[in-house]
Amino acid sequence: ANIIEVEDLFFTYRDGTQALKGISLSIPEGSRTALLGPNGAGKSTLLLHLNGIYLAQKGKVRVMGQEVTARNCKWVRSMVGLVFQDPDDQVFSSTVWEDVTFGPVNMRLTADEVERRAGEALAAVNMEKFRDKAPYHLSYGQKKRVAIAGVLAMNPRVIILDEPAAYLDPRGKDTLMEILWRLSNNGTTVVIATHDVDLAAEWAQQILVIKDGRTLAQGDVSILADEK
Ligand code: ADP
Ligand code: ADP
Repeated sequence: ANIIEVEDLFFTYRDGTQALKGISLSIPEGSRTALLGPNGAGKSTLLLHLNGIYLAQKGKVRVMGQEVTARNCKWVRSMVGLVFQDPDDQVFSSTVWEDVTFGPVNMRLTADEVERRAGEALAAVNMEKFRDKAPYHLSYGQKKRVAIAGVLAMNPRVIILDEPAAYLDPRGKDTLMEILWRLSNNGTTVVIATHDVDLAAEWAQQILVIKDGRTLAQGDVSILADEK
């Protein structure tokens, strides 16, 4: 079954820029999907729709069979976690622990449950040792992992990462890919948006190519043979 479905989605920014011009796609539950497209293709705008931050102006987004609307967008945000490209847009607390517990505290979970989830999330990104550190003192790659932990602590069914490997050195990139494999092996649906065709080919099962606000191709990884 598809955990996310997008049907003929349009989105125009207030300045008149038409970022999405009729996107349709589907993401099977449990899959590893890569969303490919050049800069400006509309990837970020699309991702903000998949987790309910933006609402469709025209067309539909469905998450677990439910159409995303103003009424259920909070629920959608808890089911579909989004990791921004730049961790400084996401990591803002004074300690790592405070940052990772922010979501579960906000969900009014019990203190024990908050503790359990945040602990597991930090373990999933190999950052337990840094729980009392200030994010400000961490490297870019470490901050990125804290941002991922913050999203994981909400227990999402889908995790979406915008340019997960951008600005990481080769070792940081390997660590990150290992984390993504682990998440996927645990049954989470993982979506990455990237312009890195090699990364997509190496990691994804399903490829979605968008360009100029439209879906260009959707299929298994073999469709990249034409792109390379
Ligand atoms: P990508 O993530 O693939 O680089 P984006 O979704 O960021 O693509 O951008 C799609 C189009 O929308 C681009 O033309 C971009 O310049 C424009 N755009 C993005 N954000 C805004 C905004 N806040 N206001 C106006 N135009 C925007
Ligand atoms: P990056 O992600 O920025 O490439 P890493 O986090 O991969 O760097 O660094 C690899 C390992 O080195 C970390 O998992 C951690 O164990 C150790 N390490 C890095 N920075 C520190 C630090 N400031 N204090 C203690 N250990 C560190």
